[in-house]
Amino acid sequence: MGRPEEGVTEHVMSVVIVGGGVAALEAAFALQALAGPRVGVELVAPEPQFYYRPLAVAKSFELGELRRYDLGDLVARAGASLTLGRVTAVDAVAHEVHTAAGAVIPFDALLVACGAEPKPCVEGALTFRGPADMERIAELLAEAEFGSVKSIAFSIPDGVLWGLPVYELALLTAATLESRGRKDVEILITTPEDEPLALFGREAGDVTAALLRRRGIVIHTQALARAFHYGGLVLASGEVLPADRVVALPRLEGPRLDGLTQTLHGFIPIDQHCQVDGMPGIYAAGDVTTFPVKQGGIATQQADAAAQAIALAAGADVVPQPFRPVLRGMLFTGSEPQFMRHDLAHPDERPVVGLKELWWPPAKIAGHYLGPLILSLDDGGATEVEAAKPAGFQIHLELDPAPRAPRSLDLEEAGTGGPTVADLPMAPPLIVAPEDTLGEVAERMRDRNLGSAVVSEYGRTVGILTSRDLLNAFASRVHSSEARVRQWMTADPITIQATASAAAAASLMTEHGIHHLPVVTEDGRPVAILGLRDVVDPGLTAPTA
Ligand SMILES: Cc1cc2nc3c(=O)[nH]c(=O)nc-3n(C[C@H](O)[C@H](O)[C@H](O)COP(=O)(O)OP(=O)(O)OC[C@H]3O[C@@H](n4cnc5c(N)ncnc54)[C@H](O)[C@@H]3O)c2cc1C
Repeated sequence: MGRPEEGVTEHVMSVVIVGGGVAALEAAFALQALAGPRVGVELVAPEPQFYYRPLAVAKSFELGELRRYDLGDLVARAGASLTLGRVTAVDAVAHEVHTAAGAVIPFDALLVACGAEPKPCVEGALTFRGPADMERIAELLAEAEFGSVKSIAFSIPDGVLWGLPVYELALLTAATLESRGRKDVEILITTPEDEPLALFGREAGDVTAALLRRRGIVIHTQALARAFHYGGLVLASGEVLPADRVVALPRLEGPRLDGLTQTLHGFIPIDQHCQVDGMPGIYAAGDVTTFPVKQGGIATQQADAAAQAIALAAGADVVPQPFRPVLRGMLFTGSEPQFMRHDLAHPDERPVVGLKELWWPPAKIAGHYLGPLILSLDDGGATEVEAAKPAGFQIHLELDPAPRAPRSLDLEEAGTGGPTVADLPMAPPLIVAPEDTLGEVAERMRDRNLGSAVVSEYGRTVGILTSRDLLNAFASRVHSSEARVRQWMTADPITIQATASAAAAASLMTEHGIHHLPVVTEDGRPVAILGLRDVVDPGLTAPTA
């Protein structure tokens, strides 16, 4: 368990995190960054390793290495401790978790991030769960290469919304067999979706359908795979699609934990700050929650929301942001990867699809803390990350893999009665629309001598465009009268309301490394923009942005 820093005498909140996967690690780093010595964080997980599962698909085709990290080492980097064990029950009244080995671990706040368990659901099919099934995919490829398998079906079962691995498996199987001189193996996909990768919208569907066509892959949409009997994949409609082998994704179920509210399939209902319904102090994040899209990026966003709420409860000066799901997908295609992004909280917003990175670092699992951490472990440090950063959409990913400790000055200032954001010298924002061209916006920013513009759609703040984004865009040789704000802005920016404390604004900006903080009304309307200097030393500077 973490210990308070020297000189910090107040109560240290003990936070127990159940799990050692994506959401658990993201939350541990977020808590370190947001609450620092105010929390002592302990992870309880059954295995001493962290597997980066998305790369299991690539590894099956010898296109990459499966990454496995020492969990104890990662946890120590987050200033937390690791206890090996499987949690079996939560006592919400006594605030204790119980492990299978009989240990009882007390907590002030609990984050359940124990993921979900894969269950085979297409009878007779090879269920692809990730690293555990890489060998079986390699064997299947060998059989196809040597001619004993002439057709393969890849299936997304009913109820599975994150079907991207199936598209990757099919595309990479076709590309690999082609490169080995086998163009005659029939490959098909069945999916309950109306179009491929429907979660990412029509354009992603069209792009994916074209990629499939190019590889000769046939897709059956609105098709519910039920069973693989010798020679055929049986659909719920009764139709039988000829196939020598079937590979299907599993359906997921949450592990049972006594004492917690769980649905029939083991999922935990949460509110928008990821607190378990009716259980104060107990949070859940990731695949184990009732949120229907079981995806790593979503797991990190929930972990961040939960960590912010816990940090606030621990006395840190943070403004917890609710969980607002933004789906980011990177599809391995057999040639260049496709990047896709869709704001699920605002489905009317147009999803983005392209070959260019849409977030940074361009990891399969986009996580505020986890993405840069994994990149720095593999590539050797944040300096290179910053230097190599290409132009493109950015999400609020900390480029520095070692999260900053909260400044003690901010923590001291966080008490009530201090100045609020409204007391700071704020400039009225330059408001632009997502479809404005970069040329127009650059001119208006220059005329008003501003370093940023707030992007607003239907009156709501949807992004921020800074002079750095403009530099990135122009360095990439975009045409100033063609490139649009939407393509270069930082979407879903962190915002603050005028009633928040000035110290909270300073803390937000330093914690997240942001220089321009939009001030918004309760319903997200932009009213001002704060520059970092205005916040850190408001007495010294005139309003800037
Ligand atoms: C093949 C494949 C490809 C994928 N591709 C992508 C992708 O491209 N992009 C993406 O964003 N996502 C992808 N995902 C999904 C992503 O891996 C998951 O959504 C993500 O790992 C969920 O995070 P989590 O923290 O909820 O669960 P996990 O990462 O599964 O972690 C759960 C943790 O809890 C532990 N645990 C389980 N039970 C207990 C218990 N009782 N007590 C204590 N600890 C327990 C586990 O050991 C593990 O450490 C892919 C998944 C697979 C299988």
